[in-house]
Amino acid sequence: MKQLRRLKSLENNHKQDRLIRGTAMEGRVRAFAVQTTALVEELRRRHDTFPTATAAMGRTATAAAMMGAMLKGEEKLTVQIKGNGPIGQIVADANAKGEVRGYVHNPHVHLPSNSKGKLDVAGAVGTEGFLHITKDLGLKEPYRGSVPIISGELAEDFTYYFATSEQTPSAVGLGVLVDQDSSVIVAGGFIVQLLPGLSDDEISAIETSLGELSPVTTLLEQGMELEELLRQVLPDVRIMDGMDIHFRCECSRERVEKTLISLGQSEMEQLIEEDGKAEVVCQFCNEAYQFDREQLESILEQAKS
Ligand code: ZN
Repeated sequence: MKQLRRLKSLENNHKQDRLIRGTAMEGRVRAFAVQTTALVEELRRRHDTFPTATAAMGRTATAAAMMGAMLKGEEKLTVQIKGNGPIGQIVADANAKGEVRGYVHNPHVHLPSNSKGKLDVAGAVGTEGFLHITKDLGLKEPYRGSVPIISGELAEDFTYYFATSEQTPSAVGLGVLVDQDSSVIVAGGFIVQLLPGLSDDEISAIETSLGELSPVTTLLEQGMELEELLRQVLPDVRIMDGMDIHFRCECSRERVEKTLISLGQSEMEQLIEEDGKAEVVCQFCNEAYQFDREQLESILEQAKS
């Protein structure tokens, strides 16, 4: 069994992460499903997260990927979860091109399993705090929406966000399955959104199927395709389009240099004098950018001008 899981995990990790978008009930329901196994494994590897932290970060990044798919063109968003648990802040960025990145404040959090034998995500995140969404829609001011954390398991918290902040009743499923060796076996999720015009019967039919649905990770581990997953909830779902999901960080040496320049002349002079070198680590991808004395001096020249 363990060997089988390992093989399954390897197979899933080599599969390109995909997201699909569909509609059902004559357009009165819209739905998203995503597989994020490779993305969450990459986040785990980059940030060296322990299993409970991997699950919390992975669920957040999975929700962010689907919310990114709700945007268009150059729009992008940031999900920030600030709970009172040991993990601290969780941040995930996503855009309309399927690019996602993220980090957690304390990656080395692993807690005993909860009463259901699952990774205790609520224990790591905390059950008090806020879920903040910031959307850069290319307008002068970004859109900001916030709701209090109501569960800490995250899927419920995103459900609450959609209902209260975006006035769209939604069902959100998020899951990350972690192997004995801490690597990610599967990760993914779905969002089903109810648009105006649904009858009570239609709503209760959706609620019934959602109630009967196995956990996302169980379905994905069985090798279920995303379309089939949505069909379990929405028998008449029609897939509109799909896209690949990737880890991508927009940091670069040029951007880091700009940040150093923005420190100003006196800070730069102090840095050169005291350390003679600098290492700047990108919070989002853990990439380290090294600067020697000569490079710092050239940045100092630019800071002066
Ligand atoms: Zn980066």
